[in-house]
Amino acid sequence: MSTGSAIITGQDAVWAFNEYESVRHRLPPMQPVAGSVRADTLDAIAHEFDVFLLDAFGVLNIGETAIPGVVERVDGLRRLGKQVLVVTNAAGYPSSVLHARYKRLGYSFATDDVVSSRMALLANLDAHPKRRWGMVAAPKFGREELPDGAIFLEDDPEAYDEAEGFLMLGASAWSEARQALLEQALRDRPRDLLVGNPDLVAPVEAGLSREPGHYAHRLADSTGIAPTFYGKPFPAIFDIVRTRFRPGVPDHRVVMVGDTLHTDILGGAASGFRTALIQGYGFFDGADPAEAIASSRIVPDFILDRP
Ligand SMILES: [Mg+2]
Repeated sequence: MSTGSAIITGQDAVWAFNEYESVRHRLPPMQPVAGSVRADTLDAIAHEFDVFLLDAFGVLNIGETAIPGVVERVDGLRRLGKQVLVVTNAAGYPSSVLHARYKRLGYSFATDDVVSSRMALLANLDAHPKRRWGMVAAPKFGREELPDGAIFLEDDPEAYDEAEGFLMLGASAWSEARQALLEQALRDRPRDLLVGNPDLVAPVEAGLSREPGHYAHRLADSTGIAPTFYGKPFPAIFDIVRTRFRPGVPDHRVVMVGDTLHTDILGGAASGFRTALIQGYGFFDGADPAEAIASSRIVPDFILDRP
């Protein structure tokens, strides 16, 4: 889904893994898990759960392509009476664009079935004084849902100066030149930096793209500001997810399913849910995650070959 330029290739999962480990001090702590059970698909663990929280990139789709068999898998889980929700760090697009995309890929999610990190950030804006926000976001996706008066940060240095705080939503139109302008602006006058997508990278057809989290951690390293993050693995998005559950579902009957240890698995576990790592697509793309799990100590309850 990200349209950021692909700058690293699939076999560089090791590179991405090390990037995530290098920002670990800003991520929530991992809850201890005894070990991982291996299974082939979600069908094999369906009896253990009432609610399935599915990551998008790497579980539903890779770029603009649905992962084979997942549309049918979601329908099958629903026929068993399961609740299936999408929990995505896609913050650069309004909900209408996300829904249109899932529909185009063949999925039938209702409005309330999709929770994005964009929603988590926007829901928390009320906690901040009303101000003129400068936005890292692609203008081509429009102003739908975005705060009144917010400015798109592009190549005009004055916009960075005028902004009273910063929102990082999507990096598809971001550049090193713009990153330098934002870094200088934060040095000149430290301001709040709210990050709608904590991902460092995202899978696209050609490999991986750089995402807002990558740029936010660099700003934190270089300017000393402390960004506030609103997507997986941080709790704000899971707080919204909980409001969508049918009544009376205990946490151990909820599973977060994703392809990335440091976002989906860490976040799901930190919020008290069980977790399933998809090995066959996305971050690991078929490679064995055992070494990454051992060295990060981010241990999923299940490792699945495919969703
Ligand atoms: Mg993913």
